Amino acid sequence: PRCYNTRSRSSYFPSWVMHCTERTFVAIKPDGVHRGLIGRTIARLEDKGYSLVALKLLKPSRTLAESHYESLRSKPFFGDLVSFITSGPVCAMVWEGKDVIGQVRKLIGNTDPLTCAPGTIRGDFGIDIGRNIIHGSDSISSAEREIQLWFHSEELVDWNPSLHEWVYE
Ligand code: ADP
Repeated sequence: PRCYNTRSRSSYFPSWVMHCTERTFVAIKPDGVHRGLIGRTIARLEDKGYSLVALKLLKPSRTLAESHYESLRSKPFFGDLVSFITSGPVCAMVWEGKDVIGQVRKLIGNTDPLTCAPGTIRGDFGIDIGRNIIHGSDSISSAEREIQLWFHSEELVDWNPSLHEWVYE
C-alpha cells in the first residue's frame, strides 16, 4: 500500500498515525444521490473509522465518465452506463485509512445487489445491477488513477483526524 504518513508529515504526526495508509475513490452514483443516500453512505464509512479527504457534487462530463469506465468500453452496457452516470449528480469522494480500498469494496458489496449480503450498501439499498448506488476503486492502481481523474491535487485535504488515536493502536 501507498504510504501517506511517512514523508514530511511524519515529523509532526504522532506515532499512532504512522501506519501505511491508503486512499480510495468513492462515488455515489445518480441513483444514490436521488434516493437521498449520501448521508447514510458517508456515515457508514465514518463509522468504520475512515477519514474523508475530498468531497464534491458534480454532473460528470461524458469524457470523464468514459475515462472512468474505460476498461468496460467493449461491454454491451457501456453506453447505458455512461448515459446514466452523466444523467445526474454524482457525489465524488476520496477516503483515507488503513486497507481502505479493500474494506470499502466489502462495505459496498458485489456488483450485483441481489447477490450482496445484507449489511452491505448495495445489499441494503439496491436491486438492479445498473442501479447499484455506489462505486469504489478496486485496486491501488485504479484508486490512484480515479483520484487523479476526478480531483485536482489541491482538492485533497491533508488533515489529522482526532479520532485516529481511538481507531488505530
Ligand atoms: P463494480 O462497480 O462492482 O466495480 P464493474 O467495474 O464490473 O463493477 O462495473 C462497473 C459498473 O458497471 C457497475 O457498478 C454497474 O453499475 C455496471 N455494470 C456492470 N455489469 C453490468 C451489467 N452486466 N449490466 C449492466 N450494468 C453493469
